[in-house]
Amino acid sequence: MRDDLALREGYHSPQLDVEVRLNTNEAPAPPPQAFTRQVMEAVEAVRWNRYPDRTASELRAAIGARYDRTAAEVFVANGSNEVLQTLLLAFGGPGRCAAVFEPTYALHSHIARTTGTEVVEGRRRDDFSLDLDEVQRVIDEADPDVVFLCSPNNPSGLVDPPHTVSEVLAMVEGRRTLLVMDEAYGQFAPTSAVGLIAEDVPLVVTRTFSKTWSMAAARLGYLLGPRWLVQELENVILPYHLDAMKQAAGLAALGFSDDMNARVAQVIEERGRLLEAFQDLPVTTWPSQASFFLFRPDDRDGNEVWQELVDRSILLRNCASWPGLDGCLRVTIGTPEENDRLLDALRDILL
Ligand SMILES: *Cc1c(COP(=O)(O)O)cnc(C)c1O
Repeated sequence: MRDDLALREGYHSPQLDVEVRLNTNEAPAPPPQAFTRQVMEAVEAVRWNRYPDRTASELRAAIGARYDRTAAEVFVANGSNEVLQTLLLAFGGPGRCAAVFEPTYALHSHIARTTGTEVVEGRRRDDFSLDLDEVQRVIDEADPDVVFLCSPNNPSGLVDPPHTVSEVLAMVEGRRTLLVMDEAYGQFAPTSAVGLIAEDVPLVVTRTFSKTWSMAAARLGYLLGPRWLVQELENVILPYHLDAMKQAAGLAALGFSDDMNARVAQVIEERGRLLEAFQDLPVTTWPSQASFFLFRPDDRDGNEVWQELVDRSILLRNCASWPGLDGCLRVTIGTPEENDRLLDALRDILL
């Protein structure tokens, strides 16, 4: 084992056997049955003795078309986490460094470290917004090879406004630095950095089928970026990394984007209802533009509340001991029934 990995813990959200799972930001509803039927037909047509299309050209073209981009500007992999890992294999590694702004998605720094990339941590403000002076300080001091932003940010749910993203991009342009915008919850947000992508701009945007497309089980993610960069990633990734079934499932899903948009709208509506109901509980909440939100019990220990919810077969994400998130829990918006169960349980525990 490498010395620099020996003491590291893996990044694994507990998979407890509970009735109400609101801990990993999965979509509460599955894709429609017509999608499943289409996938099954595609699976029957798979030529099992042959390797899959190595370049996943059809899937990449279909993803690109959603953004008026070509297949050559799309890289696909097994979840956006594998996209991030491939980015770090290509642009990070020993002697290189990645900058993150905490609190943010823990896998950015975790994957960086497993690829031998040094991690420098900047801080967000107490309201979780990005402080541009802090970004400039970190970039000047550490001269990072990769800068990660996440919008909407996980776990806060906060969107980095377009002018903030443009300013960070201006800071990295002209340096030997790549800006990675993680938009795993992009379809929930009013703005996106996709429009800023161009051949001579050091920017990539990563997205996933795990959340808004209700396909966490499939493990499929992608990035949009300059053609030259996609080409470099293709040279780093293992050959035939994306199996034939997954390519078919991704293609099928894209035919159901109206259903996806309807599910997103339903989650946003439930988020509003849940956040409003939380106002009557002794908790602090933070506004969110994603499929989850953060809250902190005002006069109870977050770990205890988390455990009492588990005792009632409800699983949230326990962020209580994460840096900058003292006592906080993160709740994924579930079905109306699941959300009602959470509300009842919290009233029971906190009132
Ligand atoms: C869930 C999530 C991902 C990705 O996941 P995959 O399932 O690997 O596509 C990436 N970034 C953020 C911020 C997430 O919350």
